[in-house]
Amino acid sequence: MPVASIYIETHGCQMNEADSQYIADRAASAGYAVAERAEDANVVILNTCTVRDNAERRAYGRMGHFKSLKKAHPALKLVVTGCLAEQDRDRMQRIAPHVDAVFGTSELAQLGDAITRWREEFAATEVSEELALRIPIGGSPDCVAGAFSPLRGFVTVQRGCSYYCTFCIVPHVRGRFDHRPMNDVLSEAQQRISEGAREIMLVGQTVNAYRDPANGDDFGALCSSVAQIPGLERLAFISPHPKDFTREMLRELSQIPQLNPRIHLPVQSASDPMLRRMNRKYTFGQFMERVEWIREFFPQAAITTDFIVGFPSETERDFQATLDCVRTGLFANAYMFIYSKRSGTPAAHWEQVEPAVASERHARLAEAQNAVARAYHEGKIGKQFRALVQGVSKKDRSKLAAKTLDNVTAIVPQPPDYDERLYALEPWLDVRVDSAHVWGCSGTIVGRARRFPDRGLAVKPALINLLTA
Ligand code: SF4
Repeated sequence: MPVASIYIETHGCQMNEADSQYIADRAASAGYAVAERAEDANVVILNTCTVRDNAERRAYGRMGHFKSLKKAHPALKLVVTGCLAEQDRDRMQRIAPHVDAVFGTSELAQLGDAITRWREEFAATEVSEELALRIPIGGSPDCVAGAFSPLRGFVTVQRGCSYYCTFCIVPHVRGRFDHRPMNDVLSEAQQRISEGAREIMLVGQTVNAYRDPANGDDFGALCSSVAQIPGLERLAFISPHPKDFTREMLRELSQIPQLNPRIHLPVQSASDPMLRRMNRKYTFGQFMERVEWIREFFPQAAITTDFIVGFPSETERDFQATLDCVRTGLFANAYMFIYSKRSGTPAAHWEQVEPAVASERHARLAEAQNAVARAYHEGKIGKQFRALVQGVSKKDRSKLAAKTLDNVTAIVPQPPDYDERLYALEPWLDVRVDSAHVWGCSGTIVGRARRFPDRGLAVKPALINLLTA
C-alpha cells in the first residue's frame, strides 16, 4: 500500500499530548507515517485547547491556515479534536465548514477508527512538492517519531474532572472524572517501557484523585503498582490537586525509589477569599499543610505551582498575599497566568478586574517568582546532575536539551561523539551545571548512561567548552 501520512498539531496541556500520542499510535497501527509538515500529510489533526481565550483564538487561526491547504488539496482530511472541539462543535461546523470531522475528547476511539477507515481511501501520496512550497502552513508537528520520542511515555490515568473550579472550563468540556482501570494503566506503562521509555509520566487532570473503578484503589496504590513494573527507571505525574494529597498517600509515594523529586502543587492564589471564590476546596493554611507533608517525606523535592492573577474581585490585598507567598521562595518554578474569562463558567459572569491592573500584578508576580527560580537554579552551579535527553535544542541546533529529575531544563553543547542513535540508546546525561538562568541551567556533559542506575561513561566535552573553561 502506498505511504499515507498524518500530521498532528497539539495545543494545551499534557492531557492533550497524551491524547495525541494515542492518535499517533492508532495511526501507526493503521499504516500511517507521521509527517513533519501539514503540507505533506493526508490527514491533519488539530488537537485544541480552550483553557484560555488566546488558546481558543489560536485554534481558530490554525483552522483558517489549514483552509488554504484543504482548498488546494480537497482529498485531505482535516480533523479537529480536543477541548475546543467538545465545547464548540456546532459553531465550528458553522464557521469552519472546511473541517471534515470534529471529535470531542471522549471520542478518541472513534477518531482512531475514522483514520483507520480513511487509510484505505488514500492512493499514492497526493500532495505535490509544488503545493507544499506554495502554501507554507507553519506550526509545530507532534508525535514525529524521532530517536528520542520513546524515552518518555505519557500514560493517561483519568479523564475529566468533577471539581468545578469557577474559572475552569475542563469539567464542562471533558466531563466528570472517568478513571481508567488500573490494569489498563499498568499494561500501557509496561508497553511504553518495552518500547524504550526511561520515564513514565502518569497524566490526569486531577491525577491524585485517581480511583480504580474495580476496587477503589487510590493514586498511591497506582504509583506503587507502576513502580513494580520491571524496567521502570523513573516515574513522574502531572497534575495533582492539593486537596487530594493525604499524609498517608505522600508517605506511600515516598517509598517509591523511582519517583522524581518534583511535586507540582497548583495553589492559584494565597488568599482565602480568592480560593473560596475559585472553589478550590482548600484554604491557604490547608495548602501549606500539604507543603509541610511534602517537606517531611520529600525533603529534596522541588515544589512547583500555578497562579492565576486578576481573578474576579481580586483586591490588592488578596494579590499581596500571593506575592508574599512567592517571596518566601517556596516554589522552584511557577506557571503564572492572567485570569482569562471562559464562557460557561461562573467566574465569567462576575465583576472583572481591570486588564491593566491584572497585567501590572502579573508583572510584579513574575518578577518575584523569576528571582526565586533563578536562585533555585543557581544552587545547582558547580554540581553534577543526571538528566534525560530531550533532543536538539530548538534555539541552538549545536546544543542538546535535557531535563533533570526535578524538571529543570539543562542546555549543553553537543559533545564531539554526539550521534543521535547512540544518545537515544544511552540517554541519561551527567551534566555539570556551569551557569543558571530563569528558564533553567547551562552546563557541560561529563558522562552518559544507558540506564538510570548505571554508572556514567565519561564523555569528552565539546571544544567550545574547553576553550571557555
Ligand atoms: S481541579 Fe479545577 S482547575 Fe483542575 S481541572 Fe478540575 S476544575 Fe479545572
